[in-house]
Amino acid sequence: MKKRDEGQLTMDALASLCKRRGFIYQTSEIYGGINGFWDYGPMGTELKRNVRDAWWADVVRRREDVVGLDSSIIMHPRVWEASGHVGGFSDPMVDCRACKKRFKADAFCEEQGLELQVEGKHFVLPEGVQCTACGSKDLTEPRAFDLMFRTHVGPVEDDSSVAYLRPETAQGIFAQFSNVLATSRQKIPFGIAQIGKAFRNEINPRNYTFRSREFEQMELEFFIKPGTDSEWHAYWVNERLKWYSSIGLPESSLHKQVHPKEKLAHYASACTDVAYDFPFGTQELEGIAARGAFDLTQHQTFSGKSMEYFDPDTNEHFIPHVVEPSAGVDRIALALLCNAYREEWVPGAKVEGGVLAAEPGGKPPEGYEARVVMRFSPRVAPVKVAVFPLLKNKPELVAKARQVFDMLRVRWSCFWDQTGAIGRRYRRQDEIGTPCGVTIDFQTLDDDTVTVRDRDTMEQIRVPVKELTDSLARTIGC
Ligand code: ATP
Repeated sequence: MKKRDEGQLTMDALASLCKRRGFIYQTSEIYGGINGFWDYGPMGTELKRNVRDAWWADVVRRREDVVGLDSSIIMHPRVWEASGHVGGFSDPMVDCRACKKRFKADAFCEEQGLELQVEGKHFVLPEGVQCTACGSKDLTEPRAFDLMFRTHVGPVEDDSSVAYLRPETAQGIFAQFSNVLATSRQKIPFGIAQIGKAFRNEINPRNYTFRSREFEQMELEFFIKPGTDSEWHAYWVNERLKWYSSIGLPESSLHKQVHPKEKLAHYASACTDVAYDFPFGTQELEGIAARGAFDLTQHQTFSGKSMEYFDPDTNEHFIPHVVEPSAGVDRIALALLCNAYREEWVPGAKVEGGVLAAEPGGKPPEGYEARVVMRFSPRVAPVKVAVFPLLKNKPELVAKARQVFDMLRVRWSCFWDQTGAIGRRYRRQDEIGTPCGVTIDFQTLDDDTVTVRDRDTMEQIRVPVKELTDSLARTIGC
């Protein structure tokens, strides 16, 4: 059997839970799947929706200076020429700086008995490679391979009908800048936000859903007055870090990675990534870039339409600069799953004692049981409350539990479970990370109180039904 390191083992355990509990499935699994594409099951769908909703609430709805957009996935192909995504190269190319010859990078390496390496979506030349024409080692980095998926619009498949699946949502925002400005009554500084699918034909999709070929982005283009770039960039880095804490990712697992000036694109004045400590390494969740006037200027040039803004306060015309926080829903969902996952040993029915962290591959001590628990922040937990009638064959218990269930599900996403021993039902909820469980038992019929069980401490308290919503709201929030 292949030996795995600890990080890999954790991802395997997580992937198995995700399949078992309906978070993530391999796409088209019945046909053997297709690399780089994933499906989200019932729990994963709720988790992702909560991520999107939390972002939309904080970045758009709770602000007066950001409005939303939902642009199409397929846009005019000129958009991608303006943005610089259509570069004309579909293979990685290498240039020799000495003799100016150009080669296909993979064949070039192979000829020398070496292998072109791939890091993320970047190609890296192996040590010792040299120009096959002149022997110089002064070679450029291999040029980016065209990551866009192509398709054809209309019945004829020729060059004039080529279109692309968008590799980012941002360009839809730039292309609609003038319309939004004219119809939203916003003044600079203001932002346009969009959530939607993006597609990249990644060379090497890996680390579960981390690098996929179809994924979802949440992007904000925040348009500002030239010269205010660095203060707005700092503002958004700070806002975004606070947001990650608000969905339950601990500050200690988040990192600000500042791109050095010499590595920035020529038009950018700053770029900071928010990275998370995944089991497979510290990796980017979001990039926050100060992109100057590059994008709007490019679209002005390529479309011939003005992208200028008139500032009524100063009577100035200018092309706004932009700060772009750009995040991936799938990566954030994966970070939340990694962060939530715990294997624990918990005291069985007759044992006193606290929760112990399970040792990998170990057996629980006498009287303890193993459990997997997803400690999601209630803000993102797929299900907020589970409701259990103690016994499914006692109609009066089931009817009362239904009443409680109907009362709660008006407000929260709730789960009904009447099958199996109550302990097993609790475990099932632990594995999907439901913060609260409500059990309706015989005492409920006497005194109208229910048992509320806390996912993390497993403590149980009795709460009158009339106080239940308020009591749960203290744990779950609104
Ligand atoms: P990377 O260097 O990891 O490929 P990037 O810098 O190219 O990412 P951006 O173009 O800045 O990424 O995209 C913004 C965000 O979109 C990323 O921070 C990430 O969350 C998400 N994203 C980008 N590519 C992918 C992908 N292949 N799979 C999942 N999410 C992605």
